[in-house]
Amino acid sequence: MPVSSHPTSRSLNKTEDLDHAIEIAHRIWWVGCHLLDDIFQCHPYLIEHGDQSVLLDPGSVLTFDTTLRKIQEVIPLSHIRYVICHHQDPDITGILPYLDEIITRNDAVIVSHWRANALIKHLGIKKLPLTCVEQYGWKLDLDGRELQFIFTPYLHFSGAFCTFDKATGTLFSSDIFGGLSENTPLFAKDEQAFAAIQTFHEHYMPSQEILRHGLSNLENLPIRLIAPQHGSIIPEHLVRFMFDNLKNMDCGLFLLTRNNSDYRRLSNLNRMLREMMQTLMLHRAFSEVANRILDLAKPLIPVADLEFFAQIESGEILHLAPETGFNGRIITTVPPECQTFLGLHRDHWESHYKGPYLITLYSGQIIMPNGDLAENGLIIPLFSPQNELVQAVVLFRLTEKFVLDEEIAHILTQLSIPLGVAVEREIIFRTMDLEKEKACERSIRDPLTGLYTRYYMQEALTRLCRIHDRDIHASISLLAFDIDHFKSVNDTYGHAMGDTTLKIVAHIISDSIRSIDIPVRLGGEEFLLFLISTKENMAREVADRIRLLVSQQRFAPPMQERVVTISCGIAFRHPHEPIEKTIERADLALYQAKSTGRNKVVVND
Ligand code: GH3
Ligand code: MG
Ligand code: MG
Repeated sequence: MPVSSHPTSRSLNKTEDLDHAIEIAHRIWWVGCHLLDDIFQCHPYLIEHGDQSVLLDPGSVLTFDTTLRKIQEVIPLSHIRYVICHHQDPDITGILPYLDEIITRNDAVIVSHWRANALIKHLGIKKLPLTCVEQYGWKLDLDGRELQFIFTPYLHFSGAFCTFDKATGTLFSSDIFGGLSENTPLFAKDEQAFAAIQTFHEHYMPSQEILRHGLSNLENLPIRLIAPQHGSIIPEHLVRFMFDNLKNMDCGLFLLTRNNSDYRRLSNLNRMLREMMQTLMLHRAFSEVANRILDLAKPLIPVADLEFFAQIESGEILHLAPETGFNGRIITTVPPECQTFLGLHRDHWESHYKGPYLITLYSGQIIMPNGDLAENGLIIPLFSPQNELVQAVVLFRLTEKFVLDEEIAHILTQLSIPLGVAVEREIIFRTMDLEKEKACERSIRDPLTGLYTRYYMQEALTRLCRIHDRDIHASISLLAFDIDHFKSVNDTYGHAMGDTTLKIVAHIISDSIRSIDIPVRLGGEEFLLFLISTKENMAREVADRIRLLVSQQRFAPPMQERVVTISCGIAFRHPHEPIEKTIERADLALYQAKSTGRNKVVVND
């Protein structure tokens, strides 16, 4: 089908002569009637597409004479097949009964949302069928040119939608981006044009939340021009600016209640929830999540800080608080108000606290969110999605009293869901870290005596030998101990008494040294002790003191009569000597101590 070109139209299309149709994009025409002293300036548009042409938001009896004349400057009326009405207001649909009479082709239709059609039918249209965007699958194929319909509910009508012409990137945005002004130019020139848009949206759009939702349905379209039903047409260079500014402006309910602090707070809390969701998606580190919540909460409720108490699998309590950068620490003392709730089942919670998950602390007593004043804190329980038990509690510490009502309680409850997920994630990470720490500690410490293991000894000595090789004063003295006739302790008093003896000897050794020295249980009843930066005669003294203390040690029955002794061999590491060699020399000295009577210290020189 060839696209028609009406003979009178072309000469006018590049001007802004408001007396004629104006081509705002390729074969898209503004066919409005610029009324004097009309702050609304309603705009009908025409998509010229041969005999499949489209008239958008035709107008009312006040303006349609002019509109009809301008349409006919571009195409004959008979070329109009579709009349799109973005909603049912009289400034759009007032003229439909007349159009019903003058459009004579059989296949012409009115296209709108079903909710608008339910009202439009009251205009008493007889011939033109009322069709719905839904029945076209939200797009209209005009013989090779596609129009896409985008649902923007409640902006400003429950069934509101916009139309996007893919061929030219023109968005027919209906009321969104509409302007309200005494003096509206047909084309927005600069960012100043937002003032008129802002006024219009403050009056007509229900809320920032709903506006944002509608805008999010639109903003990914490749828009090159916005043709709203009111105000100024927005050229490409201002499109992003207008989107960004609209997303951040207040409107509707929250605007009307600007001075009502409860509604303001409610709105802010809603925003907090939304930002919280974003934070959870963007940040992995729990400290970032926690600090973000604190930042968001501070302007809204009088909160000084927040902390978390979470129960981990072992039953221990993990404390996440600002002073430790929200790195979980195991604690033994939990505030009783938090302890009370950990591990409670959701059913128990709901039956006991009658629904809301939020409780407040008042003079140390727990009360319900019934309008009473919260004094020192707010607690939100976080349920595990797996077993529905309270796995953690958030404690908001407050700086002053504030009124807590059911609505805020409800929003905080909503907040607890994503927060619960974040905390659960953190519990898993922290439990893994704690397990790692424990495993590491296990490989470092001998479980019976608490002395270092051979594994740790090797790690530490590599480092210490390197230091000694550079600095002769960082000397290493090695004392090798072995309990005398230990086998007979086991044989006479049993293995348990043998173990006790090992613990006592180990205790005597670790009690006789400084924290930088390294006591090691090498295995069985053999111990190595590395004294760092210790003079040789001092090392001898330490060895002899330990030997003496062991021999003087009294044991519990049935070992009360038994005297336990140990032998010791000492070697001093030479710089650059492999440590195995030093150990060998100490062993040799120990062997000498054993073979020359035991309970003595021998030095290998
Ligand atoms: P010596 O004076 O020559 O050192 O004689 P000893 O009996 O102390 O030496 P021996 O090496 O013959 O015996 C060491 C004993 O230590 C043998 C083993 O059963 C016991 N033993 C090793 N590890 C443990 C332990 O963890 N607990 C207990 N109770 N006994 C252990
Ligand atoms: Mg022994
Ligand atoms: Mg032995």
